Amino acid sequence: MNQYAQMKDAPSHAMMCDLRSDTVTRPDADMRRVMADAEVGDDVFGDDPTVNKLEDVLAERLGKEAGLFLTSGTQSNFVGLLAHCARGEEIITGRPYHIFRYEAVGASVLGGIAFDPLDVAADGALEPEAIVGAIKEDDVHMPVTRLLGLENTHNGKAIPLTRLAESTAVARAAGLAVHLDGARYFNAIAALNCAEAALADLFDTVSICLSKGLGAPVGSVLVGPREIIDKARRWRKMLGGGTRQAGILAAAGLHALDHNVSRLKDDHARAAHLADRLSPFGDVQQATNMIFFTPEGGVTSDLPRHMAEHGVKLTGATGTTRLVLHKDVTDEALQTAISGFESFFGDRSS
Ligand SMILES: *Cc1c(COP(=O)(O)O)cnc(C)c1O
Repeated sequence: MNQYAQMKDAPSHAMMCDLRSDTVTRPDADMRRVMADAEVGDDVFGDDPTVNKLEDVLAERLGKEAGLFLTSGTQSNFVGLLAHCARGEEIITGRPYHIFRYEAVGASVLGGIAFDPLDVAADGALEPEAIVGAIKEDDVHMPVTRLLGLENTHNGKAIPLTRLAESTAVARAAGLAVHLDGARYFNAIAALNCAEAALADLFDTVSICLSKGLGAPVGSVLVGPREIIDKARRWRKMLGGGTRQAGILAAAGLHALDHNVSRLKDDHARAAHLADRLSPFGDVQQATNMIFFTPEGGVTSDLPRHMAEHGVKLTGATGTTRLVLHKDVTDEALQTAISGFESFFGDRSS
């Protein structure tokens, strides 16, 4: 069962602890206040000072020329791909990466862009030899390979810069551009313990989500060279993504960048703690704020049902369940989740 398919089946009453995703974070009182007070204008006219500030701040922090505010990570990757590739051109990416697997192949459906998806290594990276093997020669039978698309973090794994640099180096040597789906960019930075721009430095364009662990209600930002960002801005308008007084949303993003980046390491520590407590009950893979948990015999529908009774929301996925830590899971809520798991597996084994 895929990680998203059954999210909506979880009970809807108020829960203490929602482990389905870090997208469930809600704007807190301070964030709502800055949203209410945001200075706004018409962003399609380029007049919204708060959107402009968010785009500039993130571009500068990541060492890029320009930024573009978008409604979602999917839209951000999508316009990024459209800005890099024309019809009949191709992106090489990872088979399990979001851009290929969870974005309804919009770039192919609406952009005429081909994908060549590669298997990923255990650490979440692509092997440089596989990338080289997938780059097409100049031949009328084949698409024109234009772009390499990587992802960090991938399933929570923070891929080391040296590994990514091997991939981007072979791509650049073949004249490709390189894009990073950095939906959880700052989780990767926290785990890699590197300078904030060091990861972005390897790429032309980077997409960052504000609405996951950073806790904003809406929004992603694409950063990169001005020429590509200008093209992406035109695509965003064409796709209906030009919004007006969007400063109300951008204010939440700015607040998130100021207040919610440094605390991501707390989510990672809580994930490590939960992983430790789950380890007697099955296979547990933890990296940054995510855990993939496979109890013996696999997850059945009994587990989410039992946890719901304890006020803990899980996805309805069977087999392996993904648990995600985020700022709305307090230590107290985490303890509730641990007690719920222990009572479920304790009762079964006795
Ligand atoms: C969440 C996510 C996205 C974008 O998702 P949206 O729901 O469209 O904002 C892109 N890539 C990865 C790896 C993600 O986890």
